[in-house]
Amino acid sequence: DAKQNGSSQYRFYDAQRDQSSIEQITLENDLEGSIARQEMQLYYQPKMDMRTGEMIGVEALLRWNHPQLGMVSPARFIPVAEKSGYIVPLELWVLRTAMSQVKQWETEGLSVVPVAVNISQVHLMKPTIFESIMDTITELQFDTDLLELEITESAMMYNEEHVIHILNDLRKAGIAVSMDDFGTGYSSLSYLQSLPIECLKIDRSFINKLTTDKDSRAIAEMIISMARQLNLSIVAEGVETEDQVGLLKEMNCFNAQGYFYSKPMPPEELAQQFAPPSRAS
Ligand code: C2E
Ligand code: MG
Ligand code: MG
Ligand code: MG
Repeated sequence: DAKQNGSSQYRFYDAQRDQSSIEQITLENDLEGSIARQEMQLYYQPKMDMRTGEMIGVEALLRWNHPQLGMVSPARFIPVAEKSGYIVPLELWVLRTAMSQVKQWETEGLSVVPVAVNISQVHLMKPTIFESIMDTITELQFDTDLLELEITESAMMYNEEHVIHILNDLRKAGIAVSMDDFGTGYSSLSYLQSLPIECLKIDRSFINKLTTDKDSRAIAEMIISMARQLNLSIVAEGVETEDQVGLLKEMNCFNAQGYFYSKPMPPEELAQQFAPPSRAS
């Protein structure tokens, strides 16, 4: 402990830990009811075609605007929501809000692209998930061709039989599924081949080191050629530099998301940035 160690550095870390556990408790206490208090918000990040510079889709990403803590990252509150079960109403809110947003863009005359929503492993395991997604779609009269779900590679590996069952139902309903953070979850080739999915998203950690690390480059190359063999589309996550864009195109990967093109943005900002030229002029 601090006394034994005696260094000021150690005390500094202790103070940080106290601070972060207070925040942790605050998050746990305040999450329930955050939707009703309208503290949850969706940002949208474009998926781009690197050849044409066109936006081919958007991903909805949760933001929690906490009255005391400010903007809280989903990396911090999603695990809390998974633990308490609040993830289920939260993601149904995300689905509803994202689909409503697409319909609104449509009525505003903006180009219509599919919206992707992230689904947690905890939510994926709920027996009611397919029904509640379909209920929301029916209620909003939403075109299933415009909805995609993103499920992490590790979530897909949790209960393979159940996952295949749900994914088959989703595919029959016309809802595309992407495997998120691909390359971090150690799924086997045979399992991958048995899954009814449309797309692999190469994890940001490989793209990040694409131009500097031989191994990351080799892994990305392997994922891209494997996706082609399995007839899956591919999206590179976290593209930040022109060099990465160039290299990915050389490797025959043409779809990307990342700060090089755009950060996640509130819907009004995205609409402004991606308004068709005819409207802007
Ligand atoms: P994700 O689904 O893999 O989303 C991509 C994350 O990478 C986003 O972080 C995005 O802002 C960030 N990102 C995109 N491009 C770049 C880049 O060029 N550089 C860097 N450094 N980062 C980039 P965000 O929005 O903080 O979300 C983090 C994670 O939280 C998401 O990872 C997703 O797993 C989770 N998440 C967000 N919303 C939801 C949700 O509604 N449900 C669930 N289950 N998870 C969610
Ligand atoms: Mg995602
Ligand atoms: Mg579809
Ligand atoms: Mg990801």
